[in-house]
Amino acid sequence: MRDLTAYDAILCLRCLLCGAEYAPEEVRYVCPHHGNEGILDVVYDYAAIAARVDRDALAVQPQQDMWRYLPLLPVATPALCPPLAVGWTPLVRAERLGRRVGFHDLWVKDDGRNPTASLKDRASALAMIKARELGAATITTASSGNAAAALAGMAASVGLPAVIFVPATAPEAKVAQLLIYGATVVLVEGTYDQAFDLCIEAADRRGWYCRNTAYNPYMTEGKKTAAYEIAEQLGWQVPDCVVVAVGDGCIIGGLHKGFRDLHALGWIERLPRLIGVQAEGSAVLHDAWQRGTDEIRPIVPRTIADSISVGVPRDRLKALRAVRETDGVFVTVSDTEILAAMRELARLTGVFAEPAAAAAWAGARRAIADGLVHKDERVLVLVTGNGLKDIPAAMHAVEGHGRIVRLPPSAALEEWLAQTEE
Ligand SMILES: *Cc1c(COP(=O)(O)O)cnc(C)c1O
Ligand SMILES: [Zn+2]
Repeated sequence: MRDLTAYDAILCLRCLLCGAEYAPEEVRYVCPHHGNEGILDVVYDYAAIAARVDRDALAVQPQQDMWRYLPLLPVATPALCPPLAVGWTPLVRAERLGRRVGFHDLWVKDDGRNPTASLKDRASALAMIKARELGAATITTASSGNAAAALAGMAASVGLPAVIFVPATAPEAKVAQLLIYGATVVLVEGTYDQAFDLCIEAADRRGWYCRNTAYNPYMTEGKKTAAYEIAEQLGWQVPDCVVVAVGDGCIIGGLHKGFRDLHALGWIERLPRLIGVQAEGSAVLHDAWQRGTDEIRPIVPRTIADSISVGVPRDRLKALRAVRETDGVFVTVSDTEILAAMRELARLTGVFAEPAAAAAWAGARRAIADGLVHKDERVLVLVTGNGLKDIPAAMHAVEGHGRIVRLPPSAALEEWLAQTEE
């Protein structure tokens, strides 16, 4: 099964704006009629896929990473899969966290357990294959941090040079990841949105392969594997709701695609409602959703959750469709709620999430409080990145909430133990 892929089951790449259809060899990134706005969706012949693979075949598939789903992925050359084990991250029942809010069927999937510690590895791994299939000499991306770290790590694993555009404000740990993997780092004195445009221009001029979120149609295809895992790890009994943080909208669009694939194949009976969580200071998609339009009003974003700090969400159409077509909702959370969610998630599940990832739990809490989710429902919170990526944010989260004792290394221990209960 390792050599079977969905590449020859691709019917076309279809523009979300005009519906124009292209063969995979015909276009590299976006619909030529619509510039950077012409995001493409990869359309498959599900009957062809279903003829080759089913749930039973997967059940005996020994590969414990995202490549177990190669028969559903648009990969032409499986031999080019990066060697790092991406995906098949733990999905655990969160009993104590659930009890805190009166829910008994609450689950957490920890995608911080990927090789570079975020869900972005799923997309970057696929980008690496595409770049090598095309024989590109260099790969590039713009990122608020995690997509960059993921690309730098995947590039290092196969020895392909990477050039990364990140805002100069990216957390230090993420920049450290880029540098340690040997990527060339362009620190843009501006926003992620500006880095995005610079990267596309550089890629155009130099012929580099560009991984930019949304612009590159295959990133959704990598991220959709998280939905496959949620379904398979839960024995194909999908949650009623999946809650995830949203910046550009590519992850939530990827989840939607993944669940739609499984539904089209007849492997799941229904799609979960998708709940998109945005930071109050970066709530462009929430705003468009509330106004019932696809037109966004760009902003200058402000939130501690750097990974979802996005003023011009690039995957707006896929994100808005994901929520609308699954009868889902968007909710917003404040930075204070995000910091509280970091603590609560860590203390009641043992999962240490970066601010953007913890925003999903903050959003789940908000949805529960607003009566948007029922206490008998099965709810899954997708943790998208690891907390070690942003130590200052974690220290901020525990200000006034940490137990810490300072002791001189002498008789003081006796004294302290005497005052302290067992
Ligand atoms: C990128 C990212 C998100 C948001 O994903 P989008 O595709 O931009 O919506 C959420 N959490 C983390 C940790 C991320 O790195
Ligand atoms: Zn078009």
